Amino acid sequence: MKEELDVFNRIAQALLEDEQKEPVLTPIPIEEVYNRLDLRLEENGIDEKRFEKALKDLVLNTPRTTTNHFFNQLFGGRNGKATLGELLVVLLNNSMYTYKVGGPMIAMEKELIRNIGLLAGYGENAFGTIATGGSMTNYMAMIMARDQYDLNIRLDGVKRDLVMYTSQECHYSIKKNAAFGGIGRSNVRYIATNEKGEMLVEALEQQIQKDKAEGKAPFFINATIGTTVLGAIDPLRDIAEVAKRHGIWLHADAAFYGSFIFSKKNNHLADALELTDSFSMNAHKMLSTPITCSFILAKNKKAFYDSFNSDADYLFQGNGDDWNPGKVSFQCGRRNDALKFWCLWKSVGTSGLGRMVDNEIYLANTARDYIRNHPDYTLHNFDDSITVCFNYKGIPADKLCDALYESKELMVGYGRFREVEFVRFVTVNSSNTKEDILHFFTTLEKIASRIEI
Ligand SMILES: *Cc1c(COP(=O)(O)O)cnc(C)c1O
Repeated sequence: MKEELDVFNRIAQALLEDEQKEPVLTPIPIEEVYNRLDLRLEENGIDEKRFEKALKDLVLNTPRTTTNHFFNQLFGGRNGKATLGELLVVLLNNSMYTYKVGGPMIAMEKELIRNIGLLAGYGENAFGTIATGGSMTNYMAMIMARDQYDLNIRLDGVKRDLVMYTSQECHYSIKKNAAFGGIGRSNVRYIATNEKGEMLVEALEQQIQKDKAEGKAPFFINATIGTTVLGAIDPLRDIAEVAKRHGIWLHADAAFYGSFIFSKKNNHLADALELTDSFSMNAHKMLSTPITCSFILAKNKKAFYDSFNSDADYLFQGNGDDWNPGKVSFQCGRRNDALKFWCLWKSVGTSGLGRMVDNEIYLANTARDYIRNHPDYTLHNFDDSITVCFNYKGIPADKLCDALYESKELMVGYGRFREVEFVRFVTVNSSNTKEDILHFFTTLEKIASRIEI
């Protein structure tokens, strides 16, 4: 392994240097990718030199998501401590299903979940696990809700007309999950939103009443805390009242904004999580932890066991259920996605995580101020969001984003709300500064002046 570590250091060093020089790479056209890079697999092995070059070329030609020119997704930045944790995970290669194999890593993961539960207002008894991403943690929540509605579903399958509720602006995983879980995509009710993209609670109430009157079985409400495009926050307190009145499981998809629980200044943006039955939260979004690090927590520990426990004598040997998290997991082998986040949290403390989150709000406000002070821009979303959606001089958003990418200046994407398409500028990289935000706009204006409309 020593030799490979040397190779790692050489390639990593080259990458770090290159990222400084070229924060945005020229994309390799798909039709050229197999010719430009040494990717083809062969019958016989190759020598070390060619191997290192092939690997290095592959790495150095991969899009750069960690630089301060990347605003394309709901993740960004590279946190040194979190990356260190991730590298060690690979060396250790544990699996997080039993104490026997995971050892103190199981205790470390439990400590993360316990603290997240406390910050979210779930109390000491919160229970949870880490899965492969927000799509999966949302799925686990939906399955728990389904089984708690009727435990027989686990044996007999879905026999009733189950229906579930989410807003029109929800993440697309909700729809897929409905299909996977035997609910059916057409039994998802997409509740209308207001002009900010927040779920209309009266519309939710009406739809539930209508479904009940028709003999359907409402079992799951998903409230989105930070919608993927606008960053809108569904009114959780009011939704919780509806859920309680009708006895429906309430899940908060806080994959994007769950990290606001760490902030003292801005924790109102993840308000009322304590009223939910479950919530999901991605540390790989606002907290710059390497992909993926997604938590699912529920108040009712039994719901996890009811849905995910299965005996396996060859695997679960001793130590009791609480120390064998494989019993509440979708997966069998499960990678250690906890250590990277623990390294970050341990080193900067809860207040340090809060400062990261607060800085992202500051960066978004900086962007909004800029837009409001420059009449060539139109702003499409609202205060508090850390996605900033806008148009510039009426230039089609896709055209503008493509031009920025092709000119190797910035990576930023576009989104749509109702009929309007706009640039979606995401300020989730907490290592960015005000200068990076202003640089974004001056660069955009420079490139836009070269586009013919
Ligand atoms: C990102 C996101 C998800 C999906 O999370 P993945 O980890 O990418 O699967 C779900 N819901 C919301 C609101 C998100 O922003």
